[in-house]
Amino acid sequence: VELNNAINFIEEKDNFLLTTHINPDGDGLGAILGLVGLLKRLNKKYSIIFHDPPQEKLSFMERINEVRVYDESMTRDGLYDDAIIIDVPHLDRIGDVAKLLKKGAHILNIDHHVSNERYGTSNLIEPSASSSAEIVGSIFERMGVELDHASAQAIYVGLSVDTGRFRFNNTTPEVFRLAEKLIKAGVMPDIVSDKLYYNKNMETTIALGKMLSTIELHNGGRVATGYLDNEFLNSDVGKKVDTEGFVNHPLAINGVEVAFLIQEPVKGQIRVSLRSKTDFDVNKLANVFGGGGHPRASGCRIDGSVQEAKEKLLEATKSRLDPL
Ligand code: 5GP
Ligand code: MN
Repeated sequence: VELNNAINFIEEKDNFLLTTHINPDGDGLGAILGLVGLLKRLNKKYSIIFHDPPQEKLSFMERINEVRVYDESMTRDGLYDDAIIIDVPHLDRIGDVAKLLKKGAHILNIDHHVSNERYGTSNLIEPSASSSAEIVGSIFERMGVELDHASAQAIYVGLSVDTGRFRFNNTTPEVFRLAEKLIKAGVMPDIVSDKLYYNKNMETTIALGKMLSTIELHNGGRVATGYLDNEFLNSDVGKKVDTEGFVNHPLAINGVEVAFLIQEPVKGQIRVSLRSKTDFDVNKLANVFGGGGHPRASGCRIDGSVQEAKEKLLEATKSRLDPL
């Protein structure tokens, strides 16, 4: 039903504002650029506008040049009646792009976060989908639209990133069935993988070494923490670092169920990446601090120092760990 409503929304309207969350990642961007192929095929008009530029490593994606970053002057060109918002659980996560929505604008909300607030006029929310890109794939399929190369590649990027390279427990038979179609449409897994994961600058590798040296185990080895402080992140080296994936190193230690990467990009403002490899629900844990995400991958912000944030996280974790 939701899928049909979403298709009706796309078919009925002619000009869309397309956006995703702040700090767009491979799934948000991949789902948008994937959907663009479908909109082109249907001869629809659209504008892709994000609050932030997408991650640098995503610059290889076809159609990336169609993405514009919000600026104040855009409001003068008129506001949008219709928007498709993807991979965004709460509307405030689209940032300033909200200023481009006309009052009472129609919104199609496409997402796979359990916590999605269903803020759309139409909502296509599939928590069982691995990624928002997978949902976009299912729209192509239901509408019988052939996958062009750029869309296939974009959807593949979303799948790969949100399944942790086809590794997490959201890597379902459906994911592989879709991946088969994407590869048949011309996606080269080795090339996409190199661009996404084997394309790091030296600064990032130096930062990884630093972070690894901070790893500590807690709760009898069931919880691991690692951090990068403000002094480092603000240094010439630190500014060039992309820490995506760092949290997987403490998580990979045997016996560890939950890992936190604690970063202080701004003095006194902590950003935490939370990961789990058991039933321990880090979405619920992130909720305690006003954050969220998925049961096994979430994020939150905490005011204070690295040390204070670590103590708060460990305190909140202790009571939630299942007895062994
Ligand atoms: P990461 O640790 O990779 O930055 O984020 C992991 C996941 O947590 C993201 O896919 C996103 O769903 C969620 N997330 C990250 N930061 C925040 C945040 O500040 N608030 C909320 N609600 N979710 C977040
Ligand atoms: Mn996603």
